[in-house]
This record gives sequence, structure tokens and C-alpha cells, in this order.
Amino acid sequence: MLIFDAHLDLAWNAIDWNRDLRLPVAEIRRLEHEQGLTGKGRGQGTVAFPELRRGKIAVFIATLLARLLRPGAMPAVQRYSSMPAAYAAAYGQLAYYRALERDGVLHWIKDWPTLESHVQSWKRDDGTQPLGFILSMEGADPVLRPEQVQEWYDAGLRIIGPAHYGPSPYARGHNMEGGLFEQGPALLREMQRVGMILDVTHLSDQCFYEALDIYAGPILASHHNCRALVNDPRQLTDDQIKRLIARGAVIGAALDAWMMVPGWIRGETTPKRAGVKLEHVIDHIDRVCQLAGNARHAAIGTDLDGGFGREQSPMDLDTIADLQRLPELLRNRGYDQAAVEGILHGNWLGFFRDAWSAC
Ligand SMILES: [Zn+2]
Repeated sequence: MLIFDAHLDLAWNAIDWNRDLRLPVAEIRRLEHEQGLTGKGRGQGTVAFPELRRGKIAVFIATLLARLLRPGAMPAVQRYSSMPAAYAAAYGQLAYYRALERDGVLHWIKDWPTLESHVQSWKRDDGTQPLGFILSMEGADPVLRPEQVQEWYDAGLRIIGPAHYGPSPYARGHNMEGGLFEQGPALLREMQRVGMILDVTHLSDQCFYEALDIYAGPILASHHNCRALVNDPRQLTDDQIKRLIARGAVIGAALDAWMMVPGWIRGETTPKRAGVKLEHVIDHIDRVCQLAGNARHAAIGTDLDGGFGREQSPMDLDTIADLQRLPELLRNRGYDQAAVEGILHGNWLGFFRDAWSAC
């Protein structure tokens, strides 16, 4: 079955962690072991282009991730001392996707007709189709001023998540209390004006509600689980899920193990000890469906290799190609074929069809 994954930090992996994603996952792991890389996520990645192809992950949302330095917070990601440096690093990541597109590995999707024909070509898959991606920015640190959203749109960016962990220049992240910063409302209004989709993932609770009031354009939550199941501000409350459903949003369930089951202690708990399996993500998908009263708003946004590897992924997932087990797990929970197809790709396709025809 065709799969649409709404969150992969591919360029960040390729550049900051120097992974050649054209190689199979096993080869990347071997090279990192050989180099003695033992930090979190190293030597145990799960994502590369051969596995994305094998898993029929025909389309994904790929990120630009270049955050300002927040001393002590997240050294792997938050590393730039100025916004111009974050801006330049994000353009470097954009150039990575462009290079892979020129090589015929990737297909950059910026509008609905292209997305529709890409999916049609994958339905006739002969093993040569490039992997499709829609470009997103996680944390708006590389947007120098709100008026610069237009430049990013013209460069091919289609989605912005204003926050990530901690503060961004515009919004507070989920691990903070408080609302948008002074330039936050102007950023959101400019996003709406140019047709840039809003990703609410990582926003603080107050920023979430402020953003929904200010921004009237299309909204998604790219990689987000349910707070009723894992009680942490990183996840969405039932009220937030209902507000998103009312706005026609789609919510991508993530496979970051600590977000799937309660009681996870990062760096201590292991997937095996916690017994985290792929089927736990179905609990989150199912809750969104129960709150919606239908299966049209739940989907997946795995975040695999988003700064972690097998040590923080479901124990029965070796590589991203194992997402092909999700259809069976959904069917076991009573989801019919139409619902399964919707959750694995159709809901995202419908979201982008609507979002991009409204622009
Ligand atoms: Zn994230």
C-alpha cells in the first residue's frame, strides 16, 4: 500500500549527521559503527532512500531544520548563533533536496496537479519513480523577518511550523509556557497571505490557541500524538484535537517511542523494556478517529531518525520499510479498507488537494 509520511528530517540527517541516504540503512549503520559514532541515534538509523522505496513511502513531508543556539538544550539541532546563519543553513538543506532531485532520486512537489500525477505514477510503480516530497520548515528561525515568508514560498517551501523545542524568534515551543512573541502574529498573517500552510506541531498550548485565532489558512499537525494517552505537553489535548478537526486538519501520528507509551524516561527506558510496538501508534490514530467520529483526520508523520534511532523506536521496527505492517494492524482494530487507505495516504492527499485548491 502507498504510504504518505508527514515528517522526516532527511536533509538534517544528510548534512549535520553526514549520512549518504542513497545507501541502504544497514550500510549507513555499518559506516557509523566503523567511525566509532556512538551518540544517541548513531549507528542505528532507520531511514534511507532504498528503504523508503521498499516501504512504498511514495510521498513525505521533508524538513528544513536549522535552529538558533539554545545553550544546553539540544546541541545536535540547536546550533546557530544568529538568524542569518540559520537562514543560510536552511538554504543549504534546501540545496540538498535540489541535488537529489537532479539525480532523479526525489521529486519536489509544490502543487496539487504535481502531487496527483506523482501518486498516479506510483500506482503503476515500475521501480523507477522518484520519491515525492513536500518541503516544510520545522522552527521558523531561518525566516529573517515575517515579510520574508514570500521568498521562502518562491523557493519552494510550502509549510512552516513556527516553533520547535524552546523559543523560536516567533513562538514558544511545547516545553514552554506562554504565547507568541511580538513578531509571531505578523509571521502568521504573512503565511496566510502567501498560502503557506501552518504546522502546529511543537507550539506551546497558548501559542496553539493564539495561532488558530490569527491564522485562517490550512492547518496540519505533522507529527503529534495524544496527550490523553501520553501525558506531556508535546502531545495534543482532546480539546486541541477537536479544534483541529473543526478546521479540517490532518494529524500525523509519530513513532518516537517516548511519545507512544506513558512513563518513558529518555535515555533510560528501552523499547524492549517498555514493550513499545508499532501497534501502540494505532492507539493514537484511533483516539483521533473516535474524537472525529470518522477516519478522515488521522494519518502518520513518523519523525523516524528525527534525532533518534532504533533505541527510541518501536521494538518491532527495523527500518522505515516496516511501515507496511500498519495496514494489517489497522485492519486488526476493525478499520475497513477505505479507512486504512485514508490513514496511510488518502487523508494527506485530500488535505493537500483542498489546501492547494484554496490558494
Ligand atoms: Zn519535531
